[in-house]
Amino acid sequence: MTASTQSVDPFDLVIFGGTGDLALRKLLPALFHRFLDGQIPGSSRIVGIARETLDDAGYRAQLREALIGICDARQLDVFLQQVFYRPLDARKDEGWDDFAALIGSEPEHVRVFYLSTSPELFVDICTRLGHYKLNEGASRVVLEKPIGRDLASANQINDAVGKVFSESQTFRIDHYLGKETVQNLLVLRFGNALFEPLWNAGHIDHVQITVAETLGVGHRGSYYDRAGALRDMVQNHMLQLLCMVAMEPPSSLAPDAVRDEKLKVLHSLKPIDESNVSQLTVRGQYRAGVADGASVPGYPEELGNNKSNTETFVALKAEIANWRWAGVPFYLRTGKRLPSRVSEIAVTFKPVPHSIFGGDAGTLAQNRLVLRLQPDEGVKLWLTIKHPGPGGLRLRHVPLDMSFAEAFGVQQPDAYERLLLDVVRGNPTLFMRRDEVEAAWHWAGPILAAWADSGEPPRPYTAGSWGPSAAVALIERDGRTWNEDGE
Ligand code: NAP
Repeated sequence: MTASTQSVDPFDLVIFGGTGDLALRKLLPALFHRFLDGQIPGSSRIVGIARETLDDAGYRAQLREALIGICDARQLDVFLQQVFYRPLDARKDEGWDDFAALIGSEPEHVRVFYLSTSPELFVDICTRLGHYKLNEGASRVVLEKPIGRDLASANQINDAVGKVFSESQTFRIDHYLGKETVQNLLVLRFGNALFEPLWNAGHIDHVQITVAETLGVGHRGSYYDRAGALRDMVQNHMLQLLCMVAMEPPSSLAPDAVRDEKLKVLHSLKPIDESNVSQLTVRGQYRAGVADGASVPGYPEELGNNKSNTETFVALKAEIANWRWAGVPFYLRTGKRLPSRVSEIAVTFKPVPHSIFGGDAGTLAQNRLVLRLQPDEGVKLWLTIKHPGPGGLRLRHVPLDMSFAEAFGVQQPDAYERLLLDVVRGNPTLFMRRDEVEAAWHWAGPILAAWADSGEPPRPYTAGSWGPSAAVALIERDGRTWNEDGE
């Protein structure tokens, strides 16, 4: 089956931080894939910006190395003709005249300014874009996470960006929302008659959202140590996933219809603060162990600091205080150096009210819908059936299992491919509105404050394990277990 593509208007896409990890590993490969699908019009330009002294040819040579595995060299050369580079320090004036002249030379183009730099530079960059009037016309700015480290700093960034770009020009990216499975969650919920009548506290026992990584912090230690798992994963990606599971049906896919419903969920989250943080959250930090078959150091050694109280693991129980979800726990778990790399949402339904099967048939398991975001995007619906053949009536719990790649025979586009083109088209449905970011910080802030006030360090866990034993206790206290390996 071939994928169909929509056309886009000619655009200039400027990547501030064009030589960085995100640009080379995600953004430029995503753009190259869209080019291969014919979605980068010939006059469009991609402009990399960083302080490093490079010219267009030098930047193209860097990109050739980063992109060469994707396709044959001839197509790559054609793509690279549309790529340019300007050396700039976001905090200095030098070079901006030249850059502004380059962008100004195509006044009809859609302009996208992707800020793939540390958030401390967002204000400088936007102020200068405003000074050169590059914010006018069909101009958009993309803000990478993290947007601040708390409500106050998020507001500072949003206020400063807001002086230059209106809310409708501002695209706060959360690449989890661009994943195929998250789109599919919308379609499963609202495109089938089957699920929505059951999608409530009357029929759903609990929801688990897991984002597990096998990697440690590696070279991102200094960034990560200032953030930690709650800021890096929970406040943004995981809350966005929770919202997509829990929101009321929007009236359409219009950007504000969807975002209004997500916001209501964020506002309905029950507070976690010093009064209940020790019952509802567990934070951990990895120690030396075995991950991906190799011995790995602990977080303190990797960081070169054994005094850090930054969490590399969080498990928590969230609750949504509204009519649909009252009493249904949402268990969230994320961490580094866990046994497998997996991101999934598992919705477990309540048990049947009465079993007509005798004890010999085996136990009845609860139905579960598992949406896998990575590594292999797909959906599993666990059902109970009769074990086929003779031998009496024996119950079996089996999945209806669909891997999107296998079922449709197409490579799923990376989330950034979809989201970058959504920005060019001016469609903000899958981007976070300012009030969503604020509401998410409003909920996450008291958890961070309560942890800091408690003075307790994160609990150690061995690399390659599923986190501290307290995380197991957190869910087992409620008579449930963590869902392991997509079951
Ligand atoms: P990175 O590898 O450190 O790259 C930073 C980029 O910014 C480099 O190109 C750097 O080049 C440029 N830069 C730094 N100071 C500058 C200045 N004063 N003026 C102009 N350019 C400057 O960082 P990254 O991993 O790509 O991450 C970028 C942002 O995305 C961060 O906020 C990060 O948290 C976020 N993010 C990253 C990932 C990821 O997978 N990497 C995922 C999600 C979000 P020069 O030093 O030559 O100037």
